[in-house]
Amino acid sequence: MIQVYPKAADMKKRLLQMKRSLLFLFFLLLFGLLAALAGCSGSPPPPPDPMEPYYPAFHKESLPADFDFDSTPRYNLQLKIDPEKRLVFGKQRVHFRNLSGRLLRDIYVRQYPNLPQLGGLMKLTAVRTLPDGFAVGFAPELENSAARITLIDDLEPNADLDLEIDFEILAPQKEGYVLFGESEGILSLPYAYPMLARQTGDPVSPWRLEIPPVFADIAITDLAFYSVTVTLPEDYLIITSGVEITHTAASDPGWKTHQFVTGPAREWTMVLSKDLQEVSRTVDGNLVNSHYLSRDELAGESALAYSAAVLRTYDRLFSPYPFTELDITEAPTRYLGMEYPKLNYIGLDTYRSAANTQEYLIAHEISHQWWYALVGSDPYRYPWLDEGLAEHSSLLYMETLYGPEAADRIRTQRWEIPVQWAKKHGYDTPVGQEVTAFNSTNYELMVYAKSALFFDSLYQAMGREAYLKVLQAFIDRYRFKTPTPDDFLAIVQEVGGIDPTPMYEEWILGKSGPQGNGR
Ligand SMILES: [Zn+2]
Repeated sequence: MIQVYPKAADMKKRLLQMKRSLLFLFFLLLFGLLAALAGCSGSPPPPPDPMEPYYPAFHKESLPADFDFDSTPRYNLQLKIDPEKRLVFGKQRVHFRNLSGRLLRDIYVRQYPNLPQLGGLMKLTAVRTLPDGFAVGFAPELENSAARITLIDDLEPNADLDLEIDFEILAPQKEGYVLFGESEGILSLPYAYPMLARQTGDPVSPWRLEIPPVFADIAITDLAFYSVTVTLPEDYLIITSGVEITHTAASDPGWKTHQFVTGPAREWTMVLSKDLQEVSRTVDGNLVNSHYLSRDELAGESALAYSAAVLRTYDRLFSPYPFTELDITEAPTRYLGMEYPKLNYIGLDTYRSAANTQEYLIAHEISHQWWYALVGSDPYRYPWLDEGLAEHSSLLYMETLYGPEAADRIRTQRWEIPVQWAKKHGYDTPVGQEVTAFNSTNYELMVYAKSALFFDSLYQAMGREAYLKVLQAFIDRYRFKTPTPDDFLAIVQEVGGIDPTPMYEEWILGKSGPQGNGR
């Protein structure tokens, strides 16, 4: 293009245009100034909502009005996972508040993968305080199921601390029941980060530091929010306790980085596989995903149908589901399941030889989204509370769909006959004890079956309507909190209008249930 000098007439025209532009600019500035003044004289803009980044994963109306975000820990995890080698390299930033009511020098994080029942290898490689990046000491404790981090300075009561922890994990490859590690092409990675031990609020013993027995649930944690990035080979599917926000190509060719957030969650869990497929559907506005191995496609589709029915039933019987997505996945936990926030493991035997138990197992596990994820539980001190509620919720689901005969079959076959067997063979013991009071033979018999008979005795004494009101009130009062059995009994008395003490003494505190096998 050739540039020529403008003629005089063009110059005039340009001057006029310039004048107009200046006038326009003047008015623009005037309006801006007026708008700014109006802003100053009115109320200041609201502070940004610190929970905003997590809303994709949960419904904010599920939080109680008194929810204390500031004292809820926040995790930021950056993980690189090599699934072929079953290796996890992690950098974790965790923000938390000293709730002990005293000065704290020692902070505890759990290294659960080192438990013999999980069979992994987890080690911390560096711990720093933030923002200064100051390296602090750490040492294994509790048979290497925890690390004690010793600060340079005491942490004042109610003061916040940010720690940065580098860590590595090697997950095992195993046969049979596998909760942690790889089996049948599914790499299961719960507990795969340094989880803060649960704080007690008790200055004498500020941390929960029990070692879980082999037959019991593992994690004792506090509710937290998670923001997690995971880098892994792009041909792997990853299923987590969070909702995926984005994924991008990683710097390594053929690898991908996924970003997730959770709602208020008791823990973070992941499952990785090259072989898992996914089918989804929407239930009452929430996305339900079923993941299954290709060879189990039909059972994977039935699992989705059952999950949808279960979710809708509990939504209506109890309270709206708190998260925006629900996942179930075929898992190498044989005929058993396991609950994590938003994500439920359904044992692969129920996709194959034990297909007749799949629906009940799904009903049990998904109910834990209410009795564990929403209303917190203490798997060490009161394992019966959430397991009994989960068992009895499954009865409510079956009764709602298939009628009273289906409920009767559950009472008899799943609870009464096993409890009678336990009595006859010397395995009966009070249900209301901490987890160490049981063994691998009677744990489920007592903590699941006999505990379920306690809830069933309340259900039958109160009737369906009053019993559901009790459960709804229990959820309403304790959502995203962790109540005790006494809190539950108080609600039975207050809302259910009956005194639960005699039934509680018979089924939970007593060595035997009522004579003559009361229903
Ligand atoms: Zn359970």
